[in-house]
Amino acid sequence: MTQQPAALYVVATPIGNLEDFSPRARRILGEVELIAAEDTRHTGQLLRNAGITTPMLSLHEHNEAERTPALMEKLLAGKSVAIVSDAGTPLISDPGFDLVRAARQAGIRVTPVPGPSALVAALSVSGLPTDRFVFEGFLPARPAARRAALSALASESRTIVCYESVHRLAESLADMATAFGSGRPAVIARELTKLHESVHSGTLAELCDWVNRDAHAGKGEVVVLIGGAAQPTAQLDSGRVLDILLEELPVRQAASLAARLTGGRRNELYKQALEKAGTRPD
Ligand code: SAM
Repeated sequence: MTQQPAALYVVATPIGNLEDFSPRARRILGEVELIAAEDTRHTGQLLRNAGITTPMLSLHEHNEAERTPALMEKLLAGKSVAIVSDAGTPLISDPGFDLVRAARQAGIRVTPVPGPSALVAALSVSGLPTDRFVFEGFLPARPAARRAALSALASESRTIVCYESVHRLAESLADMATAFGSGRPAVIARELTKLHESVHSGTLAELCDWVNRDAHAGKGEVVVLIGGAAQPTAQLDSGRVLDILLEELPVRQAASLAARLTGGRRNELYKQALEKAGTRPD
């Protein structure tokens, strides 16, 4: 049998519902030599339920820099490693970036085992535009920094997706209403794939009100999504454009330029220009 070269597998795990633990994720976690886990106790539970006995090593935000060389040594020695986080896709507001970068730089195969992520799950059910979006991860916890981050996003036209701690949800929503306007559409996706899943849409003012009134709104895990800013539609008034052009140009040329500037029909604008100029065709 030919020996497969070592690989680093980036393995997504459920964000709530254990049925979302894919057969491929189970197989890979059972086959690798080592699992780098954000919290070995948390992942230990998931592995026990699935009957997987692969050894684990902790890899979290506070030890990632020092653990990466040891994990790289294993990979370079031909041993396959998987990274998992507590829930969802590693590296998405979770550890793993240092190791993935080091592995790619060393020419190690890095391969995804895709699956749940709260970001995509929330976006997919939000009813907000999904064709273009920006992911902001967690907003800064400190109010001044959060307000500055939000005001920099005020004219962002794509859907904005943020992770947020429920403890800061009410104050973050109030800051969003100040930065984006209280009428901006938004969605709170709570406890996705879990027993108390809810996806609540409204204006930022309505959502602030809901979070302050409803005791359940401030519990569990949440993703906040905000509709993008409406793009100002530069509608030029063709009559006004013709007036200005007729001050400087002959009728035919004014009508032709007005059509190009406004997207209007050249014949129509020519007729209008003649009337305005009170002249015969030039
Ligand atoms: N890497 C994970 C992923 O791909 O979804 C995200 C990890 S981040 C540390 C945890 C945040 O994700 C939570 O604070 C919450 O904002 C969001 N989240 C995770 N699970 C969720 C769920 N079931 N429902 C809603 N939001 C969730």
